[in-house]
Amino acid sequence: MVSAGFAELTIAGYMHSAIHFGGWLEAQGVSPSNIDENTVKAFGAHCCQCPGHRGHKRLSRHYLARVERFAGYLARRGVTGPVANTVPETPASSVARALDEADVAGTGY
Ligand SMILES: [Zn+2]
Repeated sequence: MVSAGFAELTIAGYMHSAIHFGGWLEAQGVSPSNIDENTVKAFGAHCCQCPGHRGHKRLSRHYLARVERFAGYLARRGVTGPVANTVPETPASSVARALDEADVAGTGY
C-alpha cells in the first residue's frame, strides 16, 4: 500500500466481490456461519445472474482469490466457519491448558 490510489482501488475491488458474494449467499439462503471453502467453490461455479453483476457470467480466478481472502478474513474474525484446512482448537486442549495453568498457580509458582 504505497499510494493511496492503489489502496482505494484494492478496497473497491474487495468491496465489489464482497458485496457480490454476500448477495449470492443471501440468494442461496446460506448463513454466514455456514461459509466454508465449498461455499467459495460453489460461488466460483455459479452462473452469475445476480442483480448488478450481469455481463460477468464467469468469475475470474483473480476475482475468486479476493472472495477467498475475504472469506478467510471472516473466518479469522469468527464470523464464519473455518475456510482453509485449519484445525480448530478442540475444547479438550483448552481444558488441558487451563488445568496446566491452574497447576502452576496451585504450586505458588
Ligand atoms: Zn453472481
